[in-house]
Amino acid sequence: MPNTFEVGIVGAGVAGSSCAQVLGRAGVKVALFDHSHPREKPCGGLIEDRVVDEFNIPEELLENEIRWFLAERFKFRVKLFLKPSLFLISRKDFDYYLLQKALKNKSVAFFDEKVSQVTKGENGWILKTNKDRCVKVKVLIGADGCPSLIRKYVFRPILPQFLAATVGYNFPCSSKYIEKVFAKNTVEAYYSHEYVQKGGFIWIFPKRTSINVGIGSMETGKKLKQSLDKFILSHPAGKRLKLLKGHFFTHLVPVIWMKDFFDFPCSGMNWALIGDAAGHVNPISGAGIYYAMKGGMLCGLAFLDGDLHLFERYWRKEYGDELYYGTKTFLTFYSNLGFFLWLQYIFENFLCQLKLLLSSN
Ligand SMILES: Cc1cc2nc3c(=O)[nH]c(=O)nc-3n(C[C@H](O)[C@H](O)[C@H](O)COP(=O)(O)OP(=O)(O)OC[C@H]3O[C@@H](n4cnc5c(N)ncnc54)[C@H](O)[C@@H]3O)c2cc1C
Repeated sequence: MPNTFEVGIVGAGVAGSSCAQVLGRAGVKVALFDHSHPREKPCGGLIEDRVVDEFNIPEELLENEIRWFLAERFKFRVKLFLKPSLFLISRKDFDYYLLQKALKNKSVAFFDEKVSQVTKGENGWILKTNKDRCVKVKVLIGADGCPSLIRKYVFRPILPQFLAATVGYNFPCSSKYIEKVFAKNTVEAYYSHEYVQKGGFIWIFPKRTSINVGIGSMETGKKLKQSLDKFILSHPAGKRLKLLKGHFFTHLVPVIWMKDFFDFPCSGMNWALIGDAAGHVNPISGAGIYYAMKGGMLCGLAFLDGDLHLFERYWRKEYGDELYYGTKTFLTFYSNLGFFLWLQYIFENFLCQLKLLLSSN
């Protein structure tokens, strides 16, 4: 006989663990599945201050405070001041911390297993894992990232035109090297058409004892790897990494550039999709950690409020505008017209700096 739980969450990344935490705190019997921990999820690991504030992230997880954004676009370089600061984290430590926090609640059972099959039953779902476990759940939550297996069962997969490839390297190196070679408290982004043709950019994120470098765009992974390697060999910024040995990674990320996508539901009577599985990623920056955590939390609250459909209302109210704005501006931002959006962004940043300067005097 299968074990029975009220809620099954597939995926204990930032979305799944945040959701499990909310449900666990309320004593809901949750089965949480993930075969991958501890692991460094392919990710830049750049988070906004609202992640730190709203989720009480401990200081020791913050590897670098980011106050400057150095960007190269349309052949010129700007260094923009960021207020409030951003932070860099290691996904291995960050996700493990969130998972442990969720597991502090006794009603959350963790299965270090991969869900391989889902069947719709009369009053719920039956999940089978790669270790031949069979678990029955009343409600199924897909938090299994991109591409999502659960999404295919409960709704339909994200179409390939909304998936961007990413490739990159994590270069472990000493903090001394990072201090010597990289500007303090700074992340870098390169939008040059020489390396990225179809909407995307190359990033360099110096952390505590590693440097995360990657490229993401609507091109194929193979093409992106060639472009990134070329960048490292030939661009003055890339050359700083040439002699380091890195761990290669590749992964998909949803990039939703059509507004209609978000009009589709990401919850039903007894299912919901959160995080990357729901496509909740900022299409312009590729940032999804905040939306995954916030979405996970809101989905948990919708369940506790007695109606999973409420999740639709909750996420749209909290961060819907940001995602809809991204879908509307994605194509313009990455076209030549994006020059004007870019100028506007630089101008606003300049005004912000001026205001800060005046208020400090
Ligand atoms: C290269 C790259 C760089 C990025 N950089 C940033 C950044 O700097 N800042 C930012 O905010 N966002 C960034 N993102 C986006 C961010 O990583 C995602 O939006 C975020 O991780 C989504 O969280 P999630 O919990 O939905 O999915 P994930 O973090 O992908 O977690 C999904 C989990 O589900 C598990 N899983 C999958 N299938 C199964 C299964 N069948 N059974 C059990 N478990 C399963 C996986 O093992 C994984 O642990 C980046 C993405 C990529 C690809």
